[in-house]
Amino acid sequence: MRERLLIPREDILRRIEELGDKISRDYMDKEPVLVCILKGAAYFTVDLTRHLKIPFILDFMSMSKYSGSDSGVVRITKDLDIDIYERDTILIEDIVDTGLTLGYLLRNLRTRGPISIKVCTLLDCPVRRIVDIPVDYKGFEIPDVYVVGYGLDYRERYRNLLDIMVLEE
Ligand code: 5GP
Repeated sequence: MRERLLIPREDILRRIEELGDKISRDYMDKEPVLVCILKGAAYFTVDLTRHLKIPFILDFMSMSKYSGSDSGVVRITKDLDIDIYERDTILIEDIVDTGLTLGYLLRNLRTRGPISIKVCTLLDCPVRRIVDIPVDYKGFEIPDVYVVGYGLDYRERYRNLLDIMVLEE
């Protein structure tokens, strides 16, 4: 396996600052629930919150795909601690790829009666999309490659890389 630089750390941090400013403006006078989808989005979520100038509630969710299934059925392995009923909610993802995971999650969370649900993702890979997902805030669009670093793993490795790298055979 070789790693090739795709997005350097300076660009990541600059873009996250811009996203934080935009979300702060959009949610002025509100207190959204930020739902970090574990584990990949943890690094992004923490850095994003450092640039928010609004109050917010941070919560975490964890899901796993049923092995061998590409139907988009996922299992929630850790649910939210907070009730999002009548709350503005922002889902924070590391990467939206096929959209199957977020599609499932959005359907699930909409049944809980939030005021709004928006999606914020660091990376968006539109060419691999199967399910149409409304992406409200995105850091970068990437081509059809497998990326690691800045929270994203390959078999639990590479999460701690500061840059986003393409993993190649
Ligand atoms: P989706 O359901 O949109 O296909 O996939 C979403 C999840 O798959 C992401 O949250 C991420 O955990 C994983 N994933 C998709 N593409 C990549 C990738 O290029 N690199 C890594 N490390 N994980 C990915």
